[in-house]
Amino acid sequence: MKKFHTMEDAVEFAATLCNSWTDAFSADNKYNADEIAGMAGIEDDEHPLDEDGFFAVSPAGAIGICDDGEAINWLFISGAAPNEDLPPKFTAAPAAKFCPKCGKPVISGARFCGSCGEKLG
Ligand SMILES: [Zn+2]
Repeated sequence: MKKFHTMEDAVEFAATLCNSWTDAFSADNKYNADEIAGMAGIEDDEHPLDEDGFFAVSPAGAIGICDDGEAINWLFISGAAPNEDLPPKFTAAPAAKFCPKCGKPVISGARFCGSCGEKLG
């Protein structure tokens, strides 16, 4: 999943993944790339996001909006994968870990620090 600050950027990326979308709230409404790009331009002008907000694009090209940095409201379902499993929250890579003794980054799950040999909890 990827994050974008404007819907136009999200749509541009989503259009590399699929070429049609279905309205998440009304399955009768279907959009092609031009139509969804047009809506994105209006949305970005009328409802710019806060600092915490972002648009999310799923691996299959579904487009969601997140206002609070937490829950994603999926707006458009990928026409290529209508049954895609869309998570309710953004799933980022796990936070980097650092050695408590020397402060160097350590590999997730490692038992000892690769730099100073400190035993990790
Ligand atoms: Zn260390």
